[in-house]
Amino acid sequence: MAKRLLDRILVVDVEATCWDGPVPEGQANDIIEIGIAVLDVATAERVDRRGIIVRPERSSVSPFCTELTTLTQEDVDAGISFAEACAILRTEYRAHERVWASWGEYDRQQFERQCAALGVPYPFGTRHLNAKTLYSLARALPREPGMAGALADAGLPLEGTHHRGVDDAWNIAALLGGLLAAGRS
Ligand code: AMP
Ligand code: MG
Repeated sequence: MAKRLLDRILVVDVEATCWDGPVPEGQANDIIEIGIAVLDVATAERVDRRGIIVRPERSSVSPFCTELTTLTQEDVDAGISFAEACAILRTEYRAHERVWASWGEYDRQQFERQCAALGVPYPFGTRHLNAKTLYSLARALPREPGMAGALADAGLPLEGTHHRGVDDAWNIAALLGGLLAAGRS
């Protein structure tokens, strides 16, 4: 059984190929960016951030996807493979031993689907934290908000570019850090 590390939370936000409508015949949603923000548990501060650009293997970047994420086909052509990116999560971030968090269940499900489809080992352990549900419960909100809505609710700025994985992860980590800090006051 993997060691349990409670020192840091890995906040992860992925961007994936997408279309203004259904997935085109013969293509599938591929992760094109893995945003990682590292939240130090003792201080509730964000201590590291990184965006890993991933080359899509089953799809290409549509104009709609570039509009949403700012990422172009040229950008992702320069990325690394999904298998290499997952290996980085394990070796550099010890993702299989740490708690990881994302906004909702989409990111976890996309990792699960893509790892299964491509035969890549799932890089995380079993302890995924749905930051959206946690935030909504802690704030007693009637509905689960999007990330931008939650930042507005918390009175925090949206730093960087929304729908870029690295910036989304950084902002989600701020929301989660706020919850950690509030739990100790
Ligand atoms: P986000 O973390 O909100 O930037 O979204 C993650 C991924 O979900 C994006 O990279 C897209 O693949 C997909 N997505 C988000 N919003 C939309 C949308 N309005 N239409 C289609 N796909 C979307
Ligand atoms: Mg995002």
